[in-house]
Amino acid sequence: MAILKEYHKPTSVPEALALLARTDVNLVPLAGGTRLVGALETRTAPGVDGVVDLGGLPLRAIQTAIVDGAPCLSLGALATLTDVCEHEGAAALAGGLLVQAAQGEGPVNLRNQATVGGVVVAAEQDSEVYAALLALGARVVTTSAAGEMVTPLADLGAIDGLVTAVLLPEAVEAGAIARISRTPADRPIVAAVAVRHGTSTRVALCGVAARPVLDGAPLDPPDDYKGSTAYRRSMVAVLRQRALAEVAA
Ligand SMILES: Cc1cc2nc3c(=O)[nH]c(=O)nc-3n(C[C@H](O)[C@H](O)[C@H](O)COP(=O)(O)OP(=O)(O)OC[C@H]3O[C@@H](n4cnc5c(N)ncnc54)[C@H](O)[C@@H]3O)c2cc1C
Repeated sequence: MAILKEYHKPTSVPEALALLARTDVNLVPLAGGTRLVGALETRTAPGVDGVVDLGGLPLRAIQTAIVDGAPCLSLGALATLTDVCEHEGAAALAGGLLVQAAQGEGPVNLRNQATVGGVVVAAEQDSEVYAALLALGARVVTTSAAGEMVTPLADLGAIDGLVTAVLLPEAVEAGAIARISRTPADRPIVAAVAVRHGTSTRVALCGVAARPVLDGAPLDPPDDYKGSTAYRRSMVAVLRQRALAEVAA
């Protein structure tokens, strides 16, 4: 385990940003800790002097909001995957797509801890929740010393400051996930998520690049004990077709 020299639990976003901006120590945000704590334990997050625990920030609410004149569902960055599954509006979105995706993300104890912001920042290659957010057309609110910015998830690069919310369109008709995994409860090897928005359908893929991507983006599938690059590449067409057929039905 890395030896941390500092632990902070601020209660406001400006206070958290000020701590993260310090140059005398390298402090990193800690949300649910499901990824970061493991990385600190295995020393795969080198150079970290301490953490800024985001748990005291008022960023856990899930609520409807009007952004740029359009109604949307705002998921606070600290909402856990369980919060999302238990929220009536979020759980109903696209026929329960987020609930299905969250269940693929991990067991209930993981869902009780892992946060929406953590999913977005970690951008794990096999994250079905991330792929579902992409297919839903999510936009990410980041807050830094420069102010607040809203960026489509598909265009999100390195994060300046903190992710504070994820915005989803409220009117989404249907969604579907097609996946292959070693067991039904396991993380996917490859998955395709399709979402119907009016007359158009958006598909996102996971397990085929360094992070989940929208269909059409260049693929660079990993080659590991779960599946070779060639196998993952060949599964994309099958899963895309299954997800599209299900969402059309
Ligand atoms: C048993 C197990 C199974 C897992 N299965 C999956 C899986 O199937 N799919 C998957 O994608 N992941 C999986 N993970 C990894 C992990 O659960 C996810 O990446 C999770 O979403 C991270 O969320 P968190 O809130 O715990 O983030 P943390 O671990 O607290 O943080 C993750 C990273 O994001 C940064 N961060 C967190 N919140 C913010 C914020 N608001 N603003 C800026 N930076 C922030 C942190 O600094 C850190 O770098 C698994 C982990 C475990 C232990």
